[in-house]
Amino acid sequence: MPALTRRSFIASAAIAAIGTGADPAAAIAPPADKLAPAIYRYKIGSYQLTALYDGIWYRPITDKFIRNAPFAEVEHALDAAFMPHDRLATPFTALVVNTGSKLVLIDTGTGGQISPSAGELRDNLIAAEINPNAVDAIVISHFHPDHINGIKDKDNKLIFPNAEIMVPAPEWAFWMDDANLNAAPADLKPTFLNQRRIFTDIAKQVTHYQPGKEVAPGIVTLPAPGHTPGHTVFAIHSGDQSLLVLSDTAQHPAVFARHPSWEAAFDVDGPEAVITRKKIFDRAAADRMLITGYHFPFPACGHLIKTATGYEHVPIEWQTNL
Ligand SMILES: [Zn+2]
Repeated sequence: MPALTRRSFIASAAIAAIGTGADPAAAIAPPADKLAPAIYRYKIGSYQLTALYDGIWYRPITDKFIRNAPFAEVEHALDAAFMPHDRLATPFTALVVNTGSKLVLIDTGTGGQISPSAGELRDNLIAAEINPNAVDAIVISHFHPDHINGIKDKDNKLIFPNAEIMVPAPEWAFWMDDANLNAAPADLKPTFLNQRRIFTDIAKQVTHYQPGKEVAPGIVTLPAPGHTPGHTVFAIHSGDQSLLVLSDTAQHPAVFARHPSWEAAFDVDGPEAVITRKKIFDRAAADRMLITGYHFPFPACGHLIKTATGYEHVPIEWQTNL
C-alpha cells in the first residue's frame, strides 16, 4: 500500500523534524487525487434511504429565464445566493429506498448525458454498495432528461436491467403523444425526442401509475402538476416517520423557495407550477415535514420554514450513525 507507506514516511519525517528542532508544519502532505463519494444514508422508520449525488449542471439562463419578474430582481436573487447571473446552479440527487423487501430508485440522474460535471450516480451507487442489478423498481417523477436519462447509458443500454420502470400516467400521455410533439415549439422538440429514445424500445418494461396511488409499500405518489403535466411528488412512510420527496416542485431553493411565485421558462404551465409549489411548501412547513428536493444542494434533505416573502430551506445536520 504505497499511500500508507508514504503517509508513514511523512509522519516519521515529521517526528524526526521535531527531534531536530525543525518546523514540523513544513512536512508536505501529498494532495488527494479524488473527491469523496457523494452518498448519504438516513432512515425513515425501518426504511433505509440512500441519497446519491449525480453532479451539478450550470444551466445557461438569459433575461427571459423568469417569465413574471424583471431580470434585475432575478439578478438580485442570484447575487443573494452567490450565483452567477448567466447560469443556474442545478445539482442532481437521486434517492434509493430500501423498504426491506424492495429496492426502489426514485429518478435516475443524467446518465452522464447532460453535462460533463454530472453523471456520477453509477460510481456513487458502487460506493454505496448497491448493485444496479438488484434495483427492483425505478419510479420516475417526470420526463425531463435529468430525471430519465439515467435509465440508459450513452449506448442505450439499460443501467438497471431488472427494474420495473414506473412512470406517471399523465406524463406519458402528454409527452408520448405525437400530436403534442408536432405542436411543440422548436426548443422543446428535443425533449420529446429524448423521451422516445429512452422509452420506445422498452415500452413493455414500463408501467404507468396514477398519481395518488402507492407504487411500493409505504411510497405514495401525489400529483404535483405545473412543472410538467404529470409531475409527481412522493410521500414515504415507515413506522411513525415520513419524508416528502419534492421532485422539481422547486429547483434550487435559494432561488425558488425564496421566490415561490416565480414562473421559470422550463415550467410547462408556470401559473399551475406556482400554485402547486405554494400548496406543497405550505403543507411541508406547517407540518414540519422532512423533505428532499432533487435540485437542492447535496444531500438535498432538510426542512422548509415559511418566511415573510417565501420559504427557506434548512438543511439537515450530517449524521455519523444510522
Ligand atoms: Zn429536474
